[in-house]
Amino acid sequence: NNLIVALGEVVVDFIPTVSGVSLAEAPGFVKSPGGGPANMAVAAARLGAKVSFIGKLGDDMFGHMLLEMLEQNQVSGEGILFDPEARTALSFVTLRADGEREFMIYCNPKTDLRLKPEELNLDLLRSAKVLHYGSVSLMLEPCRSAHLKAMEVAKESGALLSYDPNLRLSIWPSPEEARKRILSVWDKADIIKISDDELEFLTGCDKTDDETAMKLWHPNLTLLLVTLGAKGSRYYTKNFHGAVDSYRVKSVDATGAGDSFVGALLCKIVQDPTILENESKLREVLNFANACGAITTTKRGAILALPTEAEILALINATKSQQVVRHL
Ligand code: ATP
Repeated sequence: NNLIVALGEVVVDFIPTVSGVSLAEAPGFVKSPGGGPANMAVAAARLGAKVSFIGKLGDDMFGHMLLEMLEQNQVSGEGILFDPEARTALSFVTLRADGEREFMIYCNPKTDLRLKPEELNLDLLRSAKVLHYGSVSLMLEPCRSAHLKAMEVAKESGALLSYDPNLRLSIWPSPEEARKRILSVWDKADIIKISDDELEFLTGCDKTDDETAMKLWHPNLTLLLVTLGAKGSRYYTKNFHGAVDSYRVKSVDATGAGDSFVGALLCKIVQDPTILENESKLREVLNFANACGAITTTKRGAILALPTEAEILALINATKSQQVVRHL
């Protein structure tokens, strides 16, 4: 059983047709499916993993479009429910000239937060090898209780819990509330992935060094990852820690890079959980995940940009041959 279950939000991102403008200046937008857990789900499925999604969508055209998109990408939607009383969330994303983003989310009432504990597909959770989630689903009831129950059921059945808080400050009532909720489930996760910005936010430190990262270590944790955009990623386990560089690419839109990084990582971990105990295997997988994240930034949109295994290997091999040529 190698099932990865992703829990949380799937939304429609609207991205400007040109980069480097504010939302007000954008001449137009294109639809692009997104939402952290959904991006991760499609990334892992594109690399051959068996993936199911648990969440709630508005019973509207966008909701049905998103389910269809997930299924076309081999992510099973059997854990998805439709809510006739709420609309699917939309997210407008500005792209700065350097590919970084700003979000404006339209989500009132936020459909994905209407998921109730009794609506969870328990069979899916019991058969998961990994349950992956973010922090948006911890924001409000009834979804918060559903999220906590999903973690409990999956954990009891022996699944690894994978947590990527994917902080979107603009949707929280206050930074303090965001920090409190994000940290409220911290010590339950086996694998946690944060970005360098999230490391600063969660610790309140203005540094992102190893000492700061270790402030977020907890005894139940197996792997802590800090992603550093173009600079790659750092890893921390009980027995070893280090850094793996990323690849040089022409980045146009960073949306979903972190999710695709996690998708690649989880896809490899379900195939071989010993990766978590073996530093050289872990470094090899992080190199693969960095390449996956890097390629995701080369096209607009999150899901539209997710690479196949062949594309990742092509980038890794092309970079290796350039390094050989430089050495000669
Ligand atoms: P998101 O919130 O959009 O999901 P994130 O901030 O969590 O992203 P990043 O650190 O931006 O995650 O990216 C994840 C990984 O993707 C990085 O660790 C790196 O390996 C790769 N990556 C991201 N941006 C670039 C880039 N510009 N060049 C090369 N690699 C990149």
